Amino acid sequence: MSRFWTDKIASLDPYVPGEQPQDKKYIKLNTNESPYAPSSKALAAMAAEVSERLRLYPDPNGSALKNALAKSYQLEANQVFIGNGSDEVLALAFMGYFAGGKPLAFADVTYSFYKVYAGLYGIEPKLISLNDNFDIVPADYQNLDVSGVVVTNPNAPTGKALSLADIEFILKANSDVVVLVDEAYVDFGAQSASTLINQYPNLLVVQTLSKSRALAGIRVGYALGHPELIEGLERLKNSFNSYPVDRIALAGATAAVEDEAYLKEICDKTIATREQSVKDLEALGFNVLPSATNFVFVTHPEKDAEKIYLALKDQGILVRYFGNKPRIGNYLRITIGTNEEMAALTAALKTL
Ligand code: PMP
Repeated sequence: MSRFWTDKIASLDPYVPGEQPQDKKYIKLNTNESPYAPSSKALAAMAAEVSERLRLYPDPNGSALKNALAKSYQLEANQVFIGNGSDEVLALAFMGYFAGGKPLAFADVTYSFYKVYAGLYGIEPKLISLNDNFDIVPADYQNLDVSGVVVTNPNAPTGKALSLADIEFILKANSDVVVLVDEAYVDFGAQSASTLINQYPNLLVVQTLSKSRALAGIRVGYALGHPELIEGLERLKNSFNSYPVDRIALAGATAAVEDEAYLKEICDKTIATREQSVKDLEALGFNVLPSATNFVFVTHPEKDAEKIYLALKDQGILVRYFGNKPRIGNYLRITIGTNEEMAALTAALKTL
């Protein structure tokens, strides 16, 4: 607390990212990073960009990356917005589309940054409870009287996915406000709503290069949507920071998006490892929610989640424990690592 802080700063409740401890080498299964290297083409493009060109500002519009994304999703470049990680894209979308006075609808158990942005912009959250199986119930997203809706698909930290028909239902039921579909994990097993963009002018799809494309370190995320929604985000971005994505990141992200074969290869590997891990965890007595992501959300009927988390950390394995939160206090979220890392996890759990 400083006497120079405004009431605004004092009122904030900032997001706390998963720990990135530096004291020793951990098996990191706590922040949903990829265990695989980024595309070698992306690495080469970034290495080439480390040159005298770095004295120049990057392309403020990020055109090469927008074109690559547009091609990949069969959209036009003016239907693509890029930012410094999808967190920044979300932050701008919340400011631009949801700070209109009415509450913003999102699930009671979902990505915890939404509440932080809501706090930052003075938006009242209208929390819509997942059902007892941790499913989003589309019928609960009707007649809401809200400024907008955020749906995370697949949801985090549950890992559960909605069908495209369910997403369409929510879009139709909320046609006069923006429906933001956060698809950070979609490449690991759900269907992207990007195919609905030309039909629904209220749809904003947000994705990231941090998970399936193994590039969390360069901070690139994007939104796909109607040109007018995208233009709104550009107006905000250009009122805040003209160059949020640097030259190295633009070069690497563009090459990564173009390397679709590698994306598929590492997603397939992660999915195969996930299926084996589910079996192994179930054999140890865990309840594992069905996952369409690169993590699993688990609970053990007889064991305390916090104790497991601490014991694993002691053995050099980090998983995500959310503290004493309502509904998920006895759950752990475990990122899918390599086969070897998951075998080490199973072995460690056996000793507990
Ligand atoms: N959305 C969801 C649901 C997430 O879990 C994350 C990762 N913490 C993000 C968005 C943000 O990802 P990034 O800023 O790395 O693109």
